[in-house]
Amino acid sequence: MDFKQLAQKYQTPLYVYDFAHFSEQFNKLKEAFKARKSLICYAIKANSNLSVIKHFANLQSGADCVSIGEVKRALLAGVPKYKIIFSGVGKRDDEIKEALELDILMINVESQAEMQRIEEIAKSMNKEARISIRVNPNIDPKTHPYISTGLHENKFGVDIDTATRMYLQSKQSDYLNPIGIHFHIGSQLTELEPIKEASQIVADLVRKLQKVDIDIKFFDVGGGLGVQYDDEVLIQPYDYAQAILSTLSGLDVTIVMEPGRYLSANGGYFITSVLYEKQNGDRRFVIVDGAMNDLIRPSLYNAYHKIEVLSDNTQVSKANIVGPVCESGDFFAKDVEVPLTKHGDLVVIHSAGAYGFVMSSNYNTRPRPAEVGIINNQDKLIRKRETFEDLIALEKEYM
Ligand SMILES: *Cc1c(COP(=O)(O)O)cnc(C)c1O
Repeated sequence: MDFKQLAQKYQTPLYVYDFAHFSEQFNKLKEAFKARKSLICYAIKANSNLSVIKHFANLQSGADCVSIGEVKRALLAGVPKYKIIFSGVGKRDDEIKEALELDILMINVESQAEMQRIEEIAKSMNKEARISIRVNPNIDPKTHPYISTGLHENKFGVDIDTATRMYLQSKQSDYLNPIGIHFHIGSQLTELEPIKEASQIVADLVRKLQKVDIDIKFFDVGGGLGVQYDDEVLIQPYDYAQAILSTLSGLDVTIVMEPGRYLSANGGYFITSVLYEKQNGDRRFVIVDGAMNDLIRPSLYNAYHKIEVLSDNTQVSKANIVGPVCESGDFFAKDVEVPLTKHGDLVVIHSAGAYGFVMSSNYNTRPRPAEVGIINNQDKLIRKRETFEDLIALEKEYM
């Protein structure tokens, strides 16, 4: 990828996405599950640019959404309503109502209270809500605590006993139709065993429910497949599929997956330009025009991203790569060996296609970067760079 040319054409800071990589990841995963009925529902929170969603929709992907806004994005980008799932621990009444009006595949329910709410709303609309219950299997996924979700100490899902009770209740209701079961134990998973254990626990519950005539059609294994940021040893799609399939013998279910990061992370690059170098005591800082407001993962999770510095200088030394925002937490990398730079040299941050632009903000009144897709070997602007006018538009008339 010609980062210099792209930076010249679109300026920096800039997000660039390789759409061919997105396809490759999608197809690898789909292929691994070909022995069974499966539906990949791209978790659009990872990268919800409409062109990105549309690309996955063209590959026959569904969408996993965590707000009604995401549901509407998915529909707008061409995802059929019968492939859209609505997840999340705190859905508002208006979101539930709209999801029912839009007639999406199913709502993933995360608590007893939420199920009651959905039932009341469905009743008031004289509709039947298709639901799936998110089971918290109490499995330690062995990932970063902020992105771990499958333990009882996390806020997500309900325990097995509660789930069982909820299925029995929902079966009695004229306004609820339990068609799915769901678990999602965490993100950036690199170990197979916790996934297999969780799948086994949930599959056993499906068998138990079958005996009381509750017929689960969608077995939703969530997302969370890890990607290469550094030197991780990854789960291979084939092994992932085998681990899940091995727990499903005798069950006629459609396997639903909700990968986000796996599909989009490594197709994305964040390109930023060097503004200054400076030395504070024995510390070297490379100050770039991108910042934590554009890409927050290093600041928020202490996440590692591979950094590529495009410099003519061959002399290297340790440096911190930092942005202009007024926070000490504003860094992309610490103590990395990089070449000496001059004003205008490019710094390319890899694996920025997931949880990059979508987590950006306007902190420090910084307009958000443009996004460019490399689609069929051609660069295409898929989101304009924000302007100062965009940032103040909603405030101006109220001064
Ligand atoms: C965030 C999330 C995903 C996607 O997670 P990745 O780690 O990006 O694959 C899938 N399902 C649910 C319910 C989520 O909250």
